[in-house]
Formats: sequence, C-alpha cells, structure tokens
Amino acid sequence: MLRAGLIAASRSRVLRGVAERSSLVRPVVDRFVAGVDAPTAVATVHRIAGGRLVTLDLLGEDTRDRQQAERTAQAYQQLLARLADEGLTDRVEVSVKLSALGQALPRDGDKIALDNARGICSAAAAAGTTVTVDMEDHTTTDSTLQIVRDLRVDFPWVGAVLQAYLRRTEADCAELSGPGSRVRLCKGAYDEPASVAYRTRREVDASYVRCLRTLMNGAGYPMVATHDPRLITIAEHLARQSGRGRGEFEFQMLFGVREQEQQRLARAGRQVRSYVPFGREWYPYFMRRLAERPANLAFFLRSFVSTT
Ligand SMILES: Cc1cc2nc3c(=O)[nH]c(=O)nc-3n(C[C@H](O)[C@H](O)[C@H](O)COP(=O)(O)OP(=O)(O)OC[C@H]3O[C@@H](n4cnc5c(N)ncnc54)[C@H](O)[C@@H]3O)c2cc1C
Repeated sequence: MLRAGLIAASRSRVLRGVAERSSLVRPVVDRFVAGVDAPTAVATVHRIAGGRLVTLDLLGEDTRDRQQAERTAQAYQQLLARLADEGLTDRVEVSVKLSALGQALPRDGDKIALDNARGICSAAAAAGTTVTVDMEDHTTTDSTLQIVRDLRVDFPWVGAVLQAYLRRTEADCAELSGPGSRVRLCKGAYDEPASVAYRTRREVDASYVRCLRTLMNGAGYPMVATHDPRLITIAEHLARQSGRGRGEFEFQMLFGVREQEQQRLARAGRQVRSYVPFGREWYPYFMRRLAERPANLAFFLRSFVSTT
C-alpha cells in the first residue's frame, strides 16, 4: 500500500514542482543524487571511479515537450564530451530514459526518442564509451525494446534493461542473451498490475534467479543490478557455474545504497558499477527510492520536520 502510494505520488506534477523547488529536502536527496549539475556529478565520479565503474544518469523523465527532449539529448552529448576530456570514458558510461527523450510525446514519440537516442549513441561512440537504456513502466516495454534493437544495428554495445517482476521477462532474457548483448537485470521499480507482473517478493526473487540463469548461460554480458545479498550470492554461484571470469559480468548498484557492499565487492575483485544520477529533476527518481525501503521514508520525514 505504502509503496503503491509513493509510486503514485512520484507521478504527481504538483508535488514534483513543490519538492524540486524546496531547498529543505536537499540534504536527504543528496544521499541518492550526486548534485544538480554536470561538474558536481563528474567530481563524484572522479571520487568513485578509482575502484568502480560508473553509469551516469541525467535525471528527467516523462517529457511532454519536444524541445525539452532535444535539450536533454544535447545535454547528454555535452556530458559525454566532458567525460572524454577528463579521461573517464574507459570507466564511465551513461544511462538514458527514453521518456526523457520524447517517447511519451503524442505524435511520433517513438521516432523522436529513437532519433535523440541515436545522437547520444554517436556521441558515446566518439567518446569511446557505451549507453544503457533504462526501463520504465510496462506500457513502454515493447517500444523501449524495439528502440534498443534499432539502436543496436549501428551501436551493438547499447545496453538493455529487463525487470524480473514482469511475467514476460524470462522470454525477453532468452531473446536478449545472444553474443555481445549487454543486459542489466533489475527487480523493477514501478507499481505494476498482477496481470503483467509478479506481486510478491518471493515470486519476484524466483523470477530474478530464473532470468539470471538464462543470462549467465547465454553469450551476452549480464549486468546484475541488485542490492539483495541473497541474489548477489546466487549471481556469484551462477557465474562460477557458467565459467564466467571477472570481466564477463558485472554487479550494479545505486549511488547511496549499500555503499560498503559496493566497496567490499570491488575490493574482492568483482566488477562493480555504480549508477550515479544527477540533475534538477530528481523528484520521481527519489520517490522510487523511498518506495523501495520504508526506512528511507522515516529518515526523509524526520529530516523534513527537523528543518521546518
Ligand atoms: C544499477 C541499477 C539500475 C536500475 N535501473 C532500473 C531501471 O532501469 N528500471 C527499473 O524499473 N528499475 C531499475 N532499478 C531499480 C530496481 O528495479 C529496484 O527497484 C531496486 O534496485 C531495489 O531492488 P533490489 O534488487 O535492490 O532488492 P530489494 O529487495 O528491494 O532490496 C534489497 C536490500 O537492498 C537495500 N536497498 C534496496 N533499495 C534501497 C533503497 N532505495 N534505499 C536503501 N536501501 C535499499 C536494502 O538493504 C534492501 O533490504 C535499478 C537498480 C539498480 C541497482
């Protein structure tokens, strides 16, 4: 109930406007978001990228304005040039949300998002790095996977994201486990109906293991995006079973979540990539992080009350 409420609130444009303009919540938001601009985010990346890989996400989603979508694509291109100038592109890639690139626009949204994503991929190729396309709610899955397929014609290294809570995902994993296919597997962060998604933790975790087994046994590059200690242990086991060495899969975790575990895995010689979001449009991302862990909400409310 609480989770569904927070995810519904993450879609409220009114709450978003109020929250993003308020400076009171900033200290709590900073736990999960690496600043409002590229220089601050890149400074964080320099700090992290010694022992870890990074994927940088310019926050923003669900754009209803074509020019805004184009501005987002340009901002990504500038970010990639900056990463190249700072010598970071061997360790740092970018993650993009197609709804920030125009996918949700009423006319030709898919085509606009594809064109904008192509521009970002060209800039990534020039900079010597890669792009992963985040996955949003289930109404966008078919469109997003089609755009990933289209991008991969010219940029075969484009990463896809699959969500274990969706009933379709085992089949998608089988389809996307071919040679060179980079696939991030996560549990899924939206509130989805039972008609398309598993709703209990047990079912989602079981699906995650089935999907991971398919990816590990395939010929692609699995990106294991979870903080769940049990799933991390299972991933290590499956990687050993399928004969995968250090460079043949990676763990991914969110900036600000289980930081010590990220460091522990990196020290143990695993490839670990931190997902580092930045930007002014932090509200929906932040609300999904609150929804994942009720303790975050208590922390957020306490700090909000103590600053007012
Ligand atoms: C790198 C990365 C990229 C992602 N990309 C996407 C995407 O494109 N689309 C999508 O739908 N979802 C994405 N997600 C989010 C994902 O779907 C889950 O919602 C999120 O990772 C929580 O699931 P979990 O696997 O960590 O397991 P959980 O069972 O939720 O958490 C396991 C443990 O991790 C810790 N933890 C988890 N979340 C938090 C948090 N917010 N704050 C504090 N502690 C926490 C807690 O200790 C918790 O007990 C991504 C996640 C990661 C790590």
